[in-house]
Amino acid sequence: KNQVLIVGRPNVGKSTLFNRIVGRRKSIVHGIPGVTRDIIESEASWKDKKFMVADTGGIFEGGEEMSEKVEKQVKKALSEAQVILFVVDGREGITAGDEYIARMLYPYREKVFLVVNKIDSEKLQKNVYDFYALGFEKVFPVSAQHGIGVAELLDALHSLLPDEPVKLE
Ligand code: GDP
Repeated sequence: KNQVLIVGRPNVGKSTLFNRIVGRRKSIVHGIPGVTRDIIESEASWKDKKFMVADTGGIFEGGEEMSEKVEKQVKKALSEAQVILFVVDGREGITAGDEYIARMLYPYREKVFLVVNKIDSEKLQKNVYDFYALGFEKVFPVSAQHGIGVAELLDALHSLLPDEPVKLE
């Protein structure tokens, strides 16, 4: 099953983006001991493709303090994901927390979409360039709150997901 993972430090807008992508679907909650916020997962679709999307919640909260057990789970999820949506705060700029996550994602950079969130207006677009320093090629300015740029992000995601076999009636 196609798996899309949303990662990022707290407060960048992961859960807002998650809700935008899944709409009003029912989500499943996976509790992870020692993690401040559970992983929330739901089915989603865009055009003709379905995928599972997971908000990793507070998994990156502790920075370097991530336990060995959680780190193992994170690495497994990262390697299994088809696409990783790395969300950053386009108003705040790059933080140490972003850099920490960027290092962890580097081996998977081919499938990372850097989502620069909170770009609510045209004049905030100029903030986006700074984030190229994190080293990812695919960069998407969005406003998860206002739904700006989300369709472009989903179109790019769609083109990376494998084609599903057509069901004949
Ligand atoms: P999470 O901790 O990464 O899941 O972040 P949340 O989705 O809970 O959002 C954190 C805060 O950022 C909330 O107050 C949101 O309303 C706000 N937020 C999320 N997306 C946007 C956006 O596109 N623009 C602005 N201005 N605020 C946003």
